[in-house]
Amino acid sequence: MRKSLTCRMGFSPDGLSGANVRSWWVRKLILLGVLLSVLSQGCRTQQARPWLGVHLGMSSDRQAAALTGVVGQIADLGINVIIVEINYGFEYQSHPELRSPNPCTKEQIGKLVAECRKHHVRLIPQFQCLGHQSWSRNTAPLLTKYPQFDETPGLYPENKGIYCRSWCPLNPEVNPVIFSLMDELIDAFGADALHVGMDEVFLIGEDACPRCKGKDKGELFAKAVNDYHKHLVDEKHVEMLMWSDRLIDSSKLKFGKWEGSENGTASAINLIPKDIIMCDWHYELRPAYESVPMFLEHGFRVWPASWKKPEAAKAFVDYSLTLRSNPRMLGHLNTTWGAVPIRDLPKFEPLLIATSSFKPQPAAATK
Ligand SMILES: [Zn+2]
Repeated sequence: MRKSLTCRMGFSPDGLSGANVRSWWVRKLILLGVLLSVLSQGCRTQQARPWLGVHLGMSSDRQAAALTGVVGQIADLGINVIIVEINYGFEYQSHPELRSPNPCTKEQIGKLVAECRKHHVRLIPQFQCLGHQSWSRNTAPLLTKYPQFDETPGLYPENKGIYCRSWCPLNPEVNPVIFSLMDELIDAFGADALHVGMDEVFLIGEDACPRCKGKDKGELFAKAVNDYHKHLVDEKHVEMLMWSDRLIDSSKLKFGKWEGSENGTASAINLIPKDIIMCDWHYELRPAYESVPMFLEHGFRVWPASWKKPEAAKAFVDYSLTLRSNPRMLGHLNTTWGAVPIRDLPKFEPLLIATSSFKPQPAAATK
């Protein structure tokens, strides 16, 4: 039995006897113990590795190529997740009428995917859902091609008097269209997660919509979240991320109407699955960022997100680090929103603050 065991383990004390054999076994056991300890520490390090991310818009091959060119540099800084908000900027085959001008090609996305894999960076596409279907006078392709999907059809010509258009969460014809687009993105990116956006939805449950008029806005928002979750998590088996501002009740936490909700959507927080990752964006300097512990207490994973002000980013990072013992506080996400050219991402100060703050600290010197 022993011989069989030692042979399988590759140990062979042939030629040794008595005290030498005992010594041989002691050394082997110590070696085995050290090996197990190193493996165990490696697993713990892997589990505790913070998510250090950057978010940027990408809707053309030119932008995709520029990003591909800096993946290695930002990975060297510690970035291990990239969120690319692509929306209609992809050469969709299922609905070519919804492509924006000069969209990203599958070929260029493939090059970006390969570069991210080479540098162990998780690449997650984003498709902005529900709100943000227009910007200034420009309406995005979905509501241009299918104006009947609009929550406020025919109202607000040239988008005057509103922030952004929304699609109707109760129109049964919308989801089959956008799920086709999501599926194409998941395929093209080989993605294991998708970010659905959903920030700053102001038009919801509007009187102009015969389906939504008079309905509870929290329930309407939750229905949209649950529809996307069912498709992405239950059916496509990928993770789902979203911006979290519509779930923060501004009457309880003092955030303004942009980074918190004053329009009745916050009650949705109790109506949606806990495995959604909450991207909790706050761009101003504050003494505390109370939404982070609030989402943690609700059972969500939270990914705090800063923008271009270095002092605000540092304050948010430092605050988040006080909650680091909670494994559901994921790390930090640097948004960019055009504040930095893609080629200069490796020099973006808030990104340098976040990545250096989460680096493992050297052990304290002993006197
Ligand atoms: Zn509606």
